[in-house]
Amino acid sequence: MSGSRPHVAVIGGGVIGLAIGWRLAAAGCSVDIFERGAAGHGASWAAAGMLAAGIEAEPGEALLYALNRLSQGMWPGFAAEVEAASGIAVGYRDEGTMAVALTRDDAAQLRFHYDFQRSLGVELEWLSGTEARRREPHLHPGLAAAVFSPRDHQVDNRRLVTALRRVFLDAGGGPQVRAAQDAFALRFHLHPTVKATRLSDGHGVMLMLPNKEVWTFSGHEDQVELEDSVYLAGSEGPRRTAQIVIRGHARTASRVQWSLQQAPAGTPTSAGSSRRAREDEPRLPL
Ligand SMILES: Cc1cc2nc3c(=O)[nH]c(=O)nc-3n(C[C@H](O)[C@H](O)[C@H](O)COP(=O)(O)OP(=O)(O)OC[C@H]3O[C@@H](n4cnc5c(N)ncnc54)[C@H](O)[C@@H]3O)c2cc1C
Repeated sequence: MSGSRPHVAVIGGGVIGLAIGWRLAAAGCSVDIFERGAAGHGASWAAAGMLAAGIEAEPGEALLYALNRLSQGMWPGFAAEVEAASGIAVGYRDEGTMAVALTRDDAAQLRFHYDFQRSLGVELEWLSGTEARRREPHLHPGLAAAVFSPRDHQVDNRRLVTALRRVFLDAGGGPQVRAAQDAFALRFHLHPTVKATRLSDGHGVMLMLPNKEVWTFSGHEDQVELEDSVYLAGSEGPRRTAQIVIRGHARTASRVQWSLQQAPAGTPTSAGSSRRAREDEPRLPL
């Protein structure tokens, strides 16, 4: 938490993570979504987009059906809200869903599910092959039977996750959908006798060696951080030291440029005051 603004981390940027992230960000939370791959490209990309609580209800799912139906009832409003906020049409279609049986065996199975779903109160229409083809002339001529479910609908799931990603970012929930797996950090551990000072432009570090030579480490386009580190190779045990760190994301930065250059003799430096003398160094609790 920072102040009264809750900070939320969401692991996974599929339809669920993006939708939750969006709602939380819109409600004023600070939200980061950590996604190991490309947001929206998991199951949410592979799906068929059916919103079919009725025609997909299986025996044993009576309680789930009630919940699914409740959720499905919220879809028209949700789709309209996502479209209005993103400017992306999510392809919500409400003309109903038809399940078809190609053979008599398929028809027997379809009938079994039809009877069960009707017992739950699902509104369904049993169609002969001929009736089904009258409604959908491109279906196979040998069709055995079909069931029409007027209240089962669909959405274009790929458009949906694209739109959700946009509204999440627009809601200012997080700086971006972060790709956790492509994040990298290059670390340059310094010897404790090297005095390091980060340059004010944030892209370089001035290094002063014990022999007073001055070198400049440059990250060029990349930001360079100076962080604490531990030197373990000394005979007198662990010692505090510093490390130069360059961070990035491999998807956006496929290469990192850095260089180390010796400054001309007599270059003024304030590095001398930047690191404490060795005797003053606090012992690390290792
Ligand atoms: C072939 C297929 C067809 C389907 N058809 C339908 C359908 O017609 N109708 C329907 O309602 N449902 C359908 N589903 C189910 C539906 O796709 C899922 O229920 C839904 O997409 C789940 O959303 P999600 O956000 O939980 O998962 P996902 O979309 O898979 O998102 C999870 C994300 O988390 C990321 N992730 C995982 N682990 C980590 C980690 N450790 N760190 C960072 N990121 C991580 C993944 O990379 C992924 O992007 C179908 C599923 C499949 C596979």
